Amino acid sequence: MGDHGDGIAGKVVIITGGTKGIGKVIAQSFLNAEAKVLICARNAPEERIQSGKNSADFFDCDVRDSNQIKSLIGYCISTYGRLDILVNNAGGAPPADSATASEGFTRSIIDLNLVAPLMFAQIARDAMVSNGHAGVIINISSVSGMRANPMGVAYGAAKSGLLNATETLAVEWGPEIRVVAVTAGLILTEESRAFYGDDESVTQIAKTVPMGRLGNPEDIANACLFAASDSSEWITGSNIVVHGGGEKPSYLSATTAFEGGNS
Ligand code: NAP
Repeated sequence: MGDHGDGIAGKVVIITGGTKGIGKVIAQSFLNAEAKVLICARNAPEERIQSGKNSADFFDCDVRDSNQIKSLIGYCISTYGRLDILVNNAGGAPPADSATASEGFTRSIIDLNLVAPLMFAQIARDAMVSNGHAGVIINISSVSGMRANPMGVAYGAAKSGLLNATETLAVEWGPEIRVVAVTAGLILTEESRAFYGDDESVTQIAKTVPMGRLGNPEDIANACLFAASDSSEWITGSNIVVHGGGEKPSYLSATTAFEGGNS
């Protein structure tokens, strides 16, 4: 498939948090596939995101405020006449000790990572179906929502909730709207490099991943292009896990029983 997802050219795509990190690369990939890309965040991107003459349009929107989401969707419909694809990408959380995290902090993490994508999906779906078009909603989740997530209980719970919501919305909104989760493993971005530690720590972490490296934002963007493309027309309610093979069970490092490998 390369850079060009089938059926993506000419589609109108909103990517939340499309100004930085993974979202920026998702935006770039959809531009490369000749989609019309609208990105939102609280701050404008540092530089224009473009592919040839095709560049991403930016709309200032805090996804935790449903009135701001409605303004963005209104702008999308009045400017482009339709909405085909939503990528609920904005999200994240700083580490926090579960024993002392404040109520305000916990609510704000769940707001950003679970309530916001649900409200965005609801408002976007309205715009998709009222125009008589089918649509695709892609929710970016995390491996933190599929296993214990020390120092991030609210984030892990919110991302886990987003996976359940993906299945529910696919059941309620099919066949017009497909809803797919793309679950990201450990991905290196400018921001996450600091989170994972120094270069030596990143090298050591890479050795724990079966594919021998951390992920790139492109790995996630490729999965989003596939999920949005015509090749995925029977894929809904699914979770596409992109984690390089994931994390090895930690008990393996505490025993000599399997040193010869499993047969
Ligand atoms: P990032 O580099 O921190 O970028 C986050 C983006 O979201 C920025 O564009 C930011 O722009 C925007 N954003 C944050 N809060 C917002 C709000 N309230 N309203 C609107 N936009 C907001 O994040 P990332 O690492 O690329 O992560 C992207 C997604 O992948 C997240 O859902 C994250 O949970 C998930 N993920 C990341 C990793 C990883 O290793 N990086 C792993 C698994 C899953 P403003 O600050 O200007 O608003």
